[in-house]
Amino acid sequence: MSPRRNTSRRGALRKGGGRPSGDDDALFLRITGGQARENGPDGEWVIRRISGAAAAKHYRCPGCHQEIPPGMPHVVAWRPFGDGEDRRHWHSSCWERRTHRGVRHPRR
Ligand SMILES: [Zn+2]
Repeated sequence: MSPRRNTSRRGALRKGGGRPSGDDDALFLRITGGQARENGPDGEWVIRRISGAAAAKHYRCPGCHQEIPPGMPHVVAWRPFGDGEDRRHWHSSCWERRTHRGVRHPRR
């Protein structure tokens, strides 16, 4: 009499379960090389860490005015507003030093 309820099996999406939310963000960051907003003493920047494999060109670091050779992991920083024309490539250490400058030496 009562026909078996034909629950269709399609739509039974396999939910792997245990996937933490925010995982997509992490994945996105990994793909993009890790992009992040950073607030420095000189304003807001978007930074992206470039892996050695992705660094294929010579760049001039504005921090120490030395070249960043291809294959060296470094940091790209640009203003969040604008067209990216102000994009700069920094040595990772120079970038960190830039943001920490002034914090360690308070004005007398
Ligand atoms: Zn440098």
